Amino acid sequence: MRASARPRLLARVRCHATEPPVACSGYCAHCQTRHSLPRTPAAEAAAAALLARVRSAGRLDFEAAEPDARFDLATKYRSAERPRQQGQMLGVLLGRRGGEHLVLKAFSGQLNNVWEVPGWAPPLGTIRHDSSPVYTAAFRRIQHLGAEAQAAGAEAAAGSRAEQRAAEARRLRARSAQRAISNALLARIWDGYAVTSVGGRQAKLLEASLLGAGSRGGTGDCCAPKLLAAARAQGVVPEAMAETWLGSSTPDGQRVEGAFYEACQERCAPLLGFMLCPVPTIT
Ligand SMILES: [Zn+2]
Ligand SMILES: [Zn+2]
Repeated sequence: MRASARPRLLARVRCHATEPPVACSGYCAHCQTRHSLPRTPAAEAAAAALLARVRSAGRLDFEAAEPDARFDLATKYRSAERPRQQGQMLGVLLGRRGGEHLVLKAFSGQLNNVWEVPGWAPPLGTIRHDSSPVYTAAFRRIQHLGAEAQAAGAEAAAGSRAEQRAAEARRLRARSAQRAISNALLARIWDGYAVTSVGGRQAKLLEASLLGAGSRGGTGDCCAPKLLAAARAQGVVPEAMAETWLGSSTPDGQRVEGAFYEACQERCAPLLGFMLCPVPTIT
């Protein structure tokens, strides 16, 4: 019995070892199954080459004609000036367009407070702090109301009872207006994310994510959704993906430069079932 059990176990181990790990995946509510992309050796090599390219250039905007100091590689490492600096996740997508093989690249979130950097996949969101008047106007109003609430709070601590009551009422009104504007801005931001699936279906972010309105902030901003959106926009059929960490490790050791990571469970997984779905239309 033992002799026959061993070959079976070996076969299973071998089979597992030859299958590439999953780079990103998510449950698709339509197909009622998980869709995924593998992290193939070629994808890992492309991610490692990207890391090496960035390090040898010394900057993350290595495809821009003029270097921009904001994207200097040193900004991704801890130093005396930046004692708390951590690195950033970079991702590559390998795909095909006709007979052509392409590699797309993305950084997670913003790069040093900037959403769009030449050569890197653009963000999915359209209402952004660096380019949207809607955002700027709402943000200014939120700041103004914050200052108003603070001033009223200070007034409520002095003066007669009636004056204190009036100041407290003003403070509460300002805070409530601030909350309303902030919530409305957040709704506009979510609404500004257009998500397209591999099959070509379109949805708003909160419709595409399994978590709906319960989606976490930053959903759609990681490497994987940006890469899938860029692939779709450029007519590239995704085949593999890899994400790796550039820069100083996180203090908890969860992120180490050059190591590979699967797309996150909190934000990406609930969205990627939709984005990876190959079904073109739902009838
Ligand atoms: Zn993620
Ligand atoms: Zn599906």
